[in-house]
Amino acid sequence: MSEEPPAKKSKPSKLFDRLITRRNNVADSITDFDFNKKRVRVLSTATEVVKNCNGVLYWMFRDGRIQDNWAFLFAQKLALKNRVSLHVCYCILPKFLDATLRHYKFLVESLEEVANDCKDLNINFHLLYGVPNSVVLNLIKKRNMGALVVDFFPLRTPMGWVDDLKKNLPSNIPICQVDAHNIVPCWVTSTKQEYAARTIRGKINGKLNEYLTEFPPIIKHPYDSNFKIDKIDWKNCLKDVKINRSVDKVEWCKPGYRAALNHLESFINERLKNYNEKRNDPCEDACSGLSPWFHFGMISVQRVVLEVKEYRKKYKESVESFMEEAIIRRELSDNFCFYNENYDKLIGGPSWAIESLNLHRKDKREYIYTLKEFEESQTHDDLWNAAQNQLKQIGKIHGFLRMYWAKKILEWTKTPEEALEWSIYFNDKYSMDGRDPNGYVGCMWSVCGVHDQGWKERQVFGKIRYMNYKGCERKFDVKEFVMRYNGKVVIKKK
Ligand SMILES: Cc1cc2nc3c(=O)[nH]c(=O)nc-3n(C[C@H](O)[C@H](O)[C@H](O)COP(=O)(O)OP(=O)(O)OC[C@H]3O[C@@H](n4cnc5c(N)ncnc54)[C@H](O)[C@@H]3O)c2cc1C
Repeated sequence: MSEEPPAKKSKPSKLFDRLITRRNNVADSITDFDFNKKRVRVLSTATEVVKNCNGVLYWMFRDGRIQDNWAFLFAQKLALKNRVSLHVCYCILPKFLDATLRHYKFLVESLEEVANDCKDLNINFHLLYGVPNSVVLNLIKKRNMGALVVDFFPLRTPMGWVDDLKKNLPSNIPICQVDAHNIVPCWVTSTKQEYAARTIRGKINGKLNEYLTEFPPIIKHPYDSNFKIDKIDWKNCLKDVKINRSVDKVEWCKPGYRAALNHLESFINERLKNYNEKRNDPCEDACSGLSPWFHFGMISVQRVVLEVKEYRKKYKESVESFMEEAIIRRELSDNFCFYNENYDKLIGGPSWAIESLNLHRKDKREYIYTLKEFEESQTHDDLWNAAQNQLKQIGKIHGFLRMYWAKKILEWTKTPEEALEWSIYFNDKYSMDGRDPNGYVGCMWSVCGVHDQGWKERQVFGKIRYMNYKGCERKFDVKEFVMRYNGKVVIKKK
């Protein structure tokens, strides 16, 4: 495999400097800031940083950035209070769900930026390889770390890592989890699975005054490490991972915090004005496009919302609909995955939907495609094929078409289980923002009615909301979209 050259820092946007000033105006450091402790869950019986330790460790896995990161800030708060060095680690896993080279390169190039910035801040960055339970644990034990701070990521695998670590960590070491991804911490918003946006909206909006605040800065850490940090071989760090290497990186999506700020700036300057009216048109460029950076935590959604909110007077409707998507819809997805252990299985859907899909299990399907035919965009539907090409070529399907795309997989597979599994598989494998609660919920919404209601009953779908080609033609220029992504029709006998 030919590896990429080392990451070059993207040119910082004007926002980069403005945000530094803004953070500095909030507080000199986290020590002078009134940190909201409800952002933290102490998962251990130990609550105090171990005396005479060598440092505090932040294990970063969902929120891959330094600034505007409540988990990082909390770790620095502990380290400053205890006058010890601050360490950050990231584990390169041999495999993570269906992530491919496309995702690993994006991740690793961004981590290199994080590591370089950490160096400037006298914070020690460790790149670890392997299963967290063993490599993070080794680092803690070998280097006498006095506390562990971890991210919050409500998917089975990462929740399992944290559980394993909790079981194996020496009992005197505290482990604290911080929800740095949601504006209102997932466990604060609600203690149960919410039915829909309408039931969670008030719960979130009612807490925004408390949680949608400015961030203080991560500062140059005043305490040095008393041991040497292993050098990182960035060029070879993906050498041993066991991933699909045929799905390579996409050009439009540059890794890292600085690139994310550039993208945010272009959204505010060029697309935000049209967001409300045109975001559902796949031929228009009106969406933020920020989901890959959100997914990897390279930029904070809270920061983005604070920035976008500044334009409320100018683009009221657009700002409000952006906040609905980026806050309510996104945090609803985390709520679903956190409280529903079957967040990616049919049985995780609402009972009305499961009953209805079961009633229509034996309905004759007009078309049935194999996984390979879907994957190779070989359906009779040029729009579907174009959407699938878009996914493979640029690592993303437009938000509106994503719904159509997943619903057609339901229509053209033998069972709803297969439809769910395959839509998740493609989404996780190709989409830059895949393997995310939003992805599982998006597929579950499309295939088995999660957060939706029952609609007029029909073949195959039962009461699941239906979408069709004609409806798309009424909404946007289908032919133009098909031409862009070469959605050739494959004639298949019925
Ligand atoms: C079948 C299907 C699969 C999906 N898979 C993913 C996925 O893997 N990852 C992902 O982040 N989103 C997914 N979504 C939700 C949505 O389509 C994307 O978040 C959106 O298209 C991302 O583009 P954007 O950043 O330009 O969004 P914008 O319209 O600019 O929205 C800003 C942000 O709001 C959030 N958001 C927007 N729409 C939704 C939504 N419907 N549900 C939850 N959050 C939302 C995202 O974080 C997004 O980045 C999926 C939806 C469907 C129907």
